[in-house]
Amino acid sequence: MMGEMLSAARTRMHRAAEHADVADELVARLDYPSETLSASIPLRRDDGTLLQLKAWRCRYDSTLGPTKGGIRFHPDVDADEVQTLAFLMSMKCALMALPFGGGKGGVQVDAHDLSLMEKERLARGWVRHFARILGPDRDVPAPDVATGEREMAWMVDEYAAMAGSIQPGAFTGKPVSLGGIAGRTPATGRGAMIALEAVRHKLDLPPGDLRIAIQGFGNAGSWFARAASDAGHRIVAVSDSSGMISHDDGLAIDALLKAKAADGSVTDLDQKGAKSRKSGAHILSHDCDVLAFAALGGVVTADNASDLKAKAILEIANGPIGPPADAPLRKAGIEVVPDILANAGGVTISHAEWVQNRGGLAWDEDRVNDYLRDQMEAAARRVTQMMDTHALDMRTAAYAAAMVPLCRAVSARGTCSDFGGG
Ligand code: NAD
Repeated sequence: MMGEMLSAARTRMHRAAEHADVADELVARLDYPSETLSASIPLRRDDGTLLQLKAWRCRYDSTLGPTKGGIRFHPDVDADEVQTLAFLMSMKCALMALPFGGGKGGVQVDAHDLSLMEKERLARGWVRHFARILGPDRDVPAPDVATGEREMAWMVDEYAAMAGSIQPGAFTGKPVSLGGIAGRTPATGRGAMIALEAVRHKLDLPPGDLRIAIQGFGNAGSWFARAASDAGHRIVAVSDSSGMISHDDGLAIDALLKAKAADGSVTDLDQKGAKSRKSGAHILSHDCDVLAFAALGGVVTADNASDLKAKAILEIANGPIGPPADAPLRKAGIEVVPDILANAGGVTISHAEWVQNRGGLAWDEDRVNDYLRDQMEAAARRVTQMMDTHALDMRTAAYAAAMVPLCRAVSARGTCSDFGGG
């Protein structure tokens, strides 16, 4: 059965297909996931009790290559969310012209409740349950919410034990000492900044430095803040799960990073003139040029879209704007740099890690950063050209641009007309 979230997400692809020359066979192919495996993973807790955890891995579409996508540990994960995120990954990899399809995995669990040893047992258990559909040429997982380098280290290790050979290309986002790539952790935030600069001329923004607000100050949000601040922009507000902090003259990013690292919340920043609030929700209506979402999915709905005061939105998180909010935002003239472009720096460098592993190479961080810039700028050009050619908003143009390599790959295998159909 098709979940509500996936059903809503596909409407964006259908809208793009109407405007670009997309074969019906491709749309039909992308309408439903190719394969979703569900599992119930037993986890023996440190106190001896047993938890049965629901888990999934979706390989959404492999038209362009092995499927690729993260694994999240979160109490709200379900099959619908995993499939929707795998669909988004298919679009993102295609837009970035990577030889990958989209995948995603998840476990319905609150990782904060688990000890380190319990997390290790869960990570290894996840691999044992899904190994039959994984592999460097089949499906390549990576970190996502509440998983990171350490989980990938356990997972690649377990996979090697099962395969009977070292397979560094089976997972990305690994520690550098285990075949990971330099610069992967900052890549999403840095890539988002490159994307913003590359499409800025389409965003109706004032000249000069921008006033930027950021929801979420974890990996992606904090690296984006650093990149934006280094580029001379002002970060006027930041929120995390504990609250929000703002300053019209700009927050001191180095001090904010220290406060977050030491005390765990952005609200602990001690800066003269900074205003702190207990609820992070106010960031939605904060007066700014660019509002960057770097925390959760489903934040903006048709009901609260009119609260937004930003001139443009940068979707660093996956799916922060629900499809029903697209029309009100278009009407309000707020352009959205969509997730499949804005946060694609992560998978772009994951791809470089996979290439590095398969070639036995090690790129240095400068080479990684140059490659990231080239790839993000090229993808942004494909999107803005599509906007110009078909008079599309940026999200629809990004989906249409993503479908170009997918269409070519479908045509290369033959479509209806090649087989004598009408
Ligand atoms: P993270 O866990 O490192 O950080 C998440 C941040 O969001 C934390 O600062 C947390 O406090 C904050 N947060 C949680 N609930 C909040 C709320 N209600 N209001 C405000 N802030 C809240 O995660 P991350 O890796 O930075 O990922 C963030 C988003 O970016 C996710 O949607 C993820 O799928 C997406 N993303 C990340 C990457 C990557 O490479 N990290 C790549 C692509 C997409």
